[in-house]
Amino acid sequence: MDGPKPITIVGGGLAGLALGIGLRQAGVPVVIHEAGHYPRHRVCGEFISGRGQATLARLGLSDLLDQAGAVSARDAAFFSATHSTAPRPLPSSAICLSRFALDAALANHFRSLGGELLEGRRHVGDFGEGIVRATGRRLPDGAGGARWFGLKVHARKVPLTAGLEMHLSSHSYVGLCRINGGEVNICGLFRKRADESGEPGNWRERLRGRPGSPLHQRLAAAEFDDASFCAIAGLSLNPRRAGALEGICVGDAITMIPPITGNGMSMAFESAELALGPIIAWSRGETAWNEARLRIARDCDAVFTRRLAWAKWLQRIVLAPALPGPLMAFAARSGWFWRMMFAQTR
Ligand SMILES: Cc1cc2nc3c(=O)[nH]c(=O)nc-3n(C[C@H](O)[C@H](O)[C@H](O)COP(=O)(O)OP(=O)(O)OC[C@H]3O[C@@H](n4cnc5c(N)ncnc54)[C@H](O)[C@@H]3O)c2cc1C
Repeated sequence: MDGPKPITIVGGGLAGLALGIGLRQAGVPVVIHEAGHYPRHRVCGEFISGRGQATLARLGLSDLLDQAGAVSARDAAFFSATHSTAPRPLPSSAICLSRFALDAALANHFRSLGGELLEGRRHVGDFGEGIVRATGRRLPDGAGGARWFGLKVHARKVPLTAGLEMHLSSHSYVGLCRINGGEVNICGLFRKRADESGEPGNWRERLRGRPGSPLHQRLAAAEFDDASFCAIAGLSLNPRRAGALEGICVGDAITMIPPITGNGMSMAFESAELALGPIIAWSRGETAWNEARLRIARDCDAVFTRRLAWAKWLQRIVLAPALPGPLMAFAARSGWFWRMMFAQTR
């Protein structure tokens, strides 16, 4: 009898590595093609919140993250130019770990399970049978998507009032959270104005916020770790349905959720887990590739569609010029609203 058919995964980010680990645990031969090298910094809030934590536990990866230095965030505080909230307990705690440490830990674990990981290998062909697309964000599908860019840097000497601080303004939000190694991750999403070039400009000024703002005060004594700085532009935040895509996709290759939710990494892990059963069945010759694709897309859409709709709405109102302050004040008073928004967006 023939052995299991091999799988190629294009993209060694969180979705690709989680899928590769799950497949190796089931004895499926896996090769991952990764364009970059580990360890590497990524633009990310580095705040893992939502059901993806249960996926990590089911894949036996929780201890790995602990060993990599993950810390818990148990509360969050919100700031705008005019309002601030006291720290609120998160309905369930989040895991905070730099992508520098996280991606490398997962890559090493994948290799330790016998997976083949080819670094510096950019896939340029098509995504036919046996090849999974885990390539992360796609280029915008319309002019509207290119308005967003992200910046991220680690720093020391940043006093926080909560495990996560979100600083909101009408054109951006910047999240601060404690991560491994005693550093604070500073990560922002910014709306590009019509008169701006594609470049982030002076990233320190961008991330510090307006002089006098709570964010600017928080970062007054910050010592930036310049080597950790990274930027990403041309983000598309229009939700896409997995069922409308060709081939088997996982993670951001399906769609990005607005980062305000802190749920993109969770979706990467969850979609990888949803893909496991059908891909293992294909590998064992129990199902056709297209049947596996249809099942994965159906399951991802069933789990993510409502979450994406809520996240899009939340991002819109958070960035509406007059709304962040009043919305925060309302959310701070209403425990029900806070818990409801937390649950619906993850
Ligand atoms: C500003 C910002 C803040 C965020 N904050 C958070 C947060 O706090 N919490 C959260 O959960 N999520 C957050 N996210 C989202 C999160 O970073 C992503 O959802 C997550 O990284 C998706 O994982 P992925 O594996 O799908 O893609 P990625 O992590 O992007 O990995 C894709 C990989 O594919 C590789 N690749 C691409 N093309 C090819 C190719 N042709 N050949 C070979 N390799 C290829 C890339 O090099 C990359 O390593 C944030 C995103 C942004 C932009």
